[in-house]
Amino acid sequence: MEGTHDEFLSPSVTIDCNESLHIGVGTVLYSNLYRPMFKVVHDDVQCHDVLFPACSKAMYDFFYQNGTDHSNCLDNINRALGTNRNIIQPINFFMNTRVEENGKIVIAKPLSKAGDQLTLRALENCIIGISACSVSEADTNSGNCTSLEVTIDEIEGN
Ligand SMILES: [Zn+2]
Repeated sequence: MEGTHDEFLSPSVTIDCNESLHIGVGTVLYSNLYRPMFKVVHDDVQCHDVLFPACSKAMYDFFYQNGTDHSNCLDNINRALGTNRNIIQPINFFMNTRVEENGKIVIAKPLSKAGDQLTLRALENCIIGISACSVSEADTNSGNCTSLEVTIDEIEGN
């Protein structure tokens, strides 16, 4: 699938394949074509979200009436990938959500702290778009959006 955007990381397929909403060490992340894309090999937090779409102008308008000129993950990732998707379903690393018995979904403050790390092993060649989420209006980022540090290492024979 190299060179196309027809295959992409899919939280819903990842949920299906793993029969779980949980991502932690050993979890394989799958593409929309049910092929393994990444494996989690280190995870200081083991609390990530697979339910929510990337934040967007429309989302900020819906909840806070402030989408105009608000930075957002949808635009950031589209810009990074050179795409123009109208929705992106990412895996929201470090986002703390839980589903209650009545089906309500709660976004809680992240359990992560500065310096916590997550390591993914890519199982396919891939293009990665990453955005440090800009939601400061809710508990998503504890009201304090901070940067991410990303390193990519090439491993022989991987
Ligand atoms: Zn966001």
